[in-house]
Parts: sequence; structure tokens; C-alpha cells
Amino acid sequence: MTGTTTEAVGLTQLQARLEQDLAWLELPAKRWVVAREIEGVTVLEVAVIGGGMAGMAAAASLTLTGIQAVIFDRAPVGQEGPWVTTARMQTLRSPKQLTGPALGLPALTFRAWFEAQFGLQAWIELDKIPRTQWMDYLRWYRQALKLELRNDHHVTNIEPRTDGLVRLEVDTPSGKQTIYARRVVLATGRDGLGGAYVPEIATTIPHEAWAHSSDFLDYATLAGKRVGVVGAGASAMDSAATALEAGAKSVDLLIRRTDLPRINKGKGAGNAGMVIGFVDLPEHWKWRIRHYLGVEQVPAPRGSTLRVSKHPNAYFNFGCSLESVSVNGNVLSVNTPQGTFELDFLIFSTGFKIDWWARPEYANIAPHVLNWKQRLAEVNEPASQEMLDSPDLGSAFEFKEVRPGACPGLSSIHCFCYPAALSHGTVSGDIPAISEGAKRLSAGIASLFYREDIAEHFHRMELYDDAELLGDEWTPAIRRATHR
Ligand SMILES: Cc1cc2nc3c(=O)[nH]c(=O)nc-3n(C[C@H](O)[C@H](O)[C@H](O)COP(=O)(O)OP(=O)(O)OC[C@H]3O[C@@H](n4cnc5c(N)ncnc54)[C@H](O)[C@@H]3O)c2cc1C
Repeated sequence: MTGTTTEAVGLTQLQARLEQDLAWLELPAKRWVVAREIEGVTVLEVAVIGGGMAGMAAAASLTLTGIQAVIFDRAPVGQEGPWVTTARMQTLRSPKQLTGPALGLPALTFRAWFEAQFGLQAWIELDKIPRTQWMDYLRWYRQALKLELRNDHHVTNIEPRTDGLVRLEVDTPSGKQTIYARRVVLATGRDGLGGAYVPEIATTIPHEAWAHSSDFLDYATLAGKRVGVVGAGASAMDSAATALEAGAKSVDLLIRRTDLPRINKGKGAGNAGMVIGFVDLPEHWKWRIRHYLGVEQVPAPRGSTLRVSKHPNAYFNFGCSLESVSVNGNVLSVNTPQGTFELDFLIFSTGFKIDWWARPEYANIAPHVLNWKQRLAEVNEPASQEMLDSPDLGSAFEFKEVRPGACPGLSSIHCFCYPAALSHGTVSGDIPAISEGAKRLSAGIASLFYREDIAEHFHRMELYDDAELLGDEWTPAIRRATHR
């Protein structure tokens, strides 16, 4: 194959190629943001909360733009995001070809990383990316770009200030720290502005008898048990399959719908126009698209569904919304329109919700963030709760105030996690368009920094005295012109 390396050249050579590409592109740009100090301490230009794929892509794009970005993640090194902790699929759900957080740099793609180690033939033969291998790639990405990521750093309080800075309180292995940043990016994940969604009925069940699919749970404890899984999306299939593989006696999928969604409309609609243009659509079109995608729902991947159905003790029960649960000793009697299920354990694969109050670190900003329900005084179109609760963001993903002036500094905080989707489209969480989102974020932040510091930049322009011409390059002509 002409122009294509078929051999596995190794990661050292890939790193050299990446560095060469960056050098040819004169990247990263030199630092240019005006330094600030508070109480004798230098203020960070940007603090990124969350070191998963989105946080790293954001920090990388900011760094390439000449802006300092320091990432804080509460997870231990190499455990960021769901991939090797709470995710239970065998492979990624998305196709292997997506270029993810590569930011337009070929040597930063998963494919480059994979081929460098295993060669082109292995790439051709690869079906979908194994889940834990994706995490290996993200670990390499961090190292390859030398990102400053501080693990075991839990941000416990975020306080925007009247001087425009944001004060962070961080629990670290060496105690509590206070950090000041000019701008803060929340790259806190799929549940980044809230947590797991569980229906009200869960409150009637002892907590030791249920979990959410995103909870840390040792599925070996389900061996020999009758397990119910509420939901039918990708995570429901992953939970069901993992329980079955761990030796569950049976798994009943309790599915409210009468059929499974079959077509991934979001995948079909995904094109460069949507990635770039969604943000500038009139609001009723944004609303209509997000509502349609929500109603249609994303089908679980075929492989994940087969991983469940190949077990003879897996049951797909349709029309089974949960009406009530009664607890008799250790047994849960789950009542549905189709009858009662006797179960030992329930897993809610019911997604996530925006819930500011579930996250103590947001207590200062929660009452002030403008959401779409407040933006549209009257919502005449049908809407999901998630849409109503979604923050209404500015062009750099910055939060807006409900009452202008009530929370100065709020607009120094940028929402680069999934709930940005109604404002910006799906560019701040999923793999397909994360680079475009990160570039939009870094360009927006660069523009805001420049505008804020324009007087200083102008002053620097005035002071600049690096001469191009020394004055010895020419001699003034003597009396060449004739007088009229
Ligand atoms: C099970 C599962 C499977 C998925 N599979 C796919 C897929 O195949 N393809 C696809 O395109 N998308 C997939 N997604 C969606 C998306 O790609 C992932 O959710 C991805 O992890 C998003 O990256 P992120 O950086 O936004 O969030 P995360 O990877 O979740 O990272 C967020 C980070 O923020 C940190 N954090 C949060 N709060 C704080 C705090 N207060 N202080 C410090 N740190 C904090 C967390 O520790 C975490 O490491 C999947 C999602 C899930 C949940």
C-alpha cells in the first residue's frame, strides 16, 4: 500500500513523528496570556476539572493555542472516566475509525497508536476497539502531549469571584489546597452536572438490593441471584451480560417499551455540517433535533445485545414498566403491567440527570446558572426534563446568569461536558466530535482572554521595539526631484 507504513514501528517512533508534526506546525503556540497574581501566588490561566477524554482534549487544544491548562481529577492515575471502572462493555460502542481527541494531528489518533504497536494488518482485522485498550490509548495521549494532570485531586468547591477569578478548593493527597484560576472548564463527564438517574420507585427498595449501572459494583456478588435490569439501552445490555457472565441465576430485562429502538438516528445525522452548524441554529431547531433524538433513543449495539441473548437464562420482557416493588425478606416482588417478577437484585440502567444539588462542589453556582427552561419563558414544544434543565451556554461554552449581575465571575466557568449538547450539539462528551468541541472551546477562551486584556496587549504593542530595519539598509537620495 503506497504511502502507508505496514510495519509496527513502535511508540517511540510514533512519539518522534508527533513531535516532528508539531514542530512543522510551530505548535504549541508560545504563551501569550497576561499573567495574574493574587496574594503573591500566580493565578492559573485555565483549570480543567476532569481528566477524561474531554478534559484532556480541552487542555491539549488550549496548550496548542498558547494557553496554560492544568487538569485536576479525583481519580487515581490511569483510572479517569468510566473505561476501566464502571463501564462494562467489551468494546467501544462507536466505530474504530473515529479520530476522537486527535485534534487534527494524524499521529495522535487511536489508529496511529494501534498501528505503531501492532501494524496495519492488525488494524484491518480489528473490529471494534476493546474498551480497556481505549483507556491505554488515553493514557498514552496524556503522556505524548505531556499534559499537566493532577490525579487524586478532588475539586470540592467552585467559587466565582467579583474580580472575575474563580477560586477552587481541592482535596489532595497532601491536604486541602486553594487554587485560583482565570477560567475554569468543567469536563466532568456524562453525569458532569448531576448524577445517575433512578426512578422514584428505587426509594422503596433497600439500597443493598439495587444499584445503578454506573455504580461501582462487584458483579461476582450477583452469582446465583435472580437479577432484574431496568432499561434496554447499551448500559442495560452491558449490565445484563456482565451479571450473566458472573453466574447470575437469571437476568430479566424489564423494558418499558414494546420494542427495542433499532436505528441510531444520531449516528445517521452526524456529519460535519451538524458538528459545526448546530451551535448557530435557531433555538427551535436545536430544540426539535435534541427532542427527536431523545424520543427515538439510541439502540444498544448489536454485539452488546447478542452478548446478552446468547444466554438461555436471559429474558427480554417488553411492556414492563415498574408499577411497584414489595420487599419480602431478601426477595423483591416487582409488579409490572405484564405481571410480577420475583427478584433478588435490581440494576437501574436508566441514564443520568442534571442535578446541581447532587454535587456539593456546585453549591455556589447552582442557583445562578441560566437553563433552557428559564431561557424560553414558554416552552410550547414537547421537552424532556433533561432538556429543560440543560444550561443555556455562550459561544465559548460559558455559563450565563439567571439575573445579570447576581453572580459575577460565573461566565469564567465553561461547561465542557455532555449537558452542553442542547446549546452546542454533541461536541463535548462523545468520541466522534470531541476535537471540534475542544477547538471551539479553546478558540472561545483565547478570544475572551484577548478581549479582557486588550489594554495590556495594546501597551505591549506600543513597547515592542524589536527592529526589522536597522537604518543602515539604505541611503536617502540627494535632490533627485526637480522643483516645479
Ligand atoms: C459506559 C459508557 C460507555 C461509553 N461508550 C462510548 C462509546 O463507545 N463511544 C462514544 O463515543 N462515547 C461513549 N460514551 C460516552 C462518552 O464518550 C464517555 O462518557 C466519556 O467518558 C466522556 O468523556 P469525558 O471526559 O466527558 O468524561 P469522563 O471520561 O467521565 O471524565 C470525567 C472526569 O471528571 C472527573 N471529575 C468529575 N468531577 C470531579 C471533581 N469534582 N473533581 C475532580 N475530578 C472530577 C472524574 O473523575 C472523571 O475522570 C460512553 C459512556 C459511558 C458511561
